[in-house]
Amino acid sequence: MIVDEFIENPKMLSDFANQKKDWSNFLTLLHLLLVKHGERKFHLASTSKRHSKNLRDLADKLELEWKVVSGTELFEYQKQVTPLPQIVIDAFGNKINGRNTHGLVIAKDENDLDSLEGSVFSDSNTGKILEYPDCCVNWFVNNTSSDWEELYAFVIEQSPEGANTPVENIIQLMDKCDGHVPETRNRIKKIRVNHIAESRDTMPFIFFQPCDVCLISASFSPARKLNEKYANFAKENYPQLYEIIISEGKKEADNYLNPEFREKFW
Ligand SMILES: [Zn+2]
Repeated sequence: MIVDEFIENPKMLSDFANQKKDWSNFLTLLHLLLVKHGERKFHLASTSKRHSKNLRDLADKLELEWKVVSGTELFEYQKQVTPLPQIVIDAFGNKINGRNTHGLVIAKDENDLDSLEGSVFSDSNTGKILEYPDCCVNWFVNNTSSDWEELYAFVIEQSPEGANTPVENIIQLMDKCDGHVPETRNRIKKIRVNHIAESRDTMPFIFFQPCDVCLISASFSPARKLNEKYANFAKENYPQLYEIIISEGKKEADNYLNPEFREKFW
């Protein structure tokens, strides 16, 4: 009943959704059902006003427990092609590590919610909480680390003092120009096509971006296996939801393949 109603009248449940795109809303419902049936332990979402109440209401309807859990942030960085100087790594660490953050956690058992209180909500740890494959989580962390390195190189190139720019100024400049580095934009455009469009099309039952290995190899692909597990659960228990996640996933894939959409996204 709850599922039929939701398919009829979907609500905003995810950061990925917008007025015209419901794939992530349907997938969130499926993931809450996976939690309810003991197939996953947690669902974790931001506390964004846009969807938080809808998510709590749906959790209540499904008789799941929820809690806004406090945790801390971490500057998570893995050296890539052109490593950041240690002084910059330390400055970001000082700025970000231990900073308070919150997450809306949904689980079947109230005690499980408490177990996440005080967690470090880094990308790696969030990936662990959400049972994402290690290979895909590492790939994501490596990518965000490349973002930092490209941003640093860009800022140093623009700054009249170059590599001698005081570290406080470097951090300030890096904060300001996030999203404007051409190299990063080009890399992310490729990720949108090769990883996001591809996974919405062939793995629409997972939220995370699959890594290179998971995309290429069909036989050794933790992401494809996880997708299959969630897909089978949906097909067996909620066939209508199964169908709509596939069809909405294909629409999302088409969007990501549309150059106009990709340009607008920036
Ligand atoms: Zn992977």
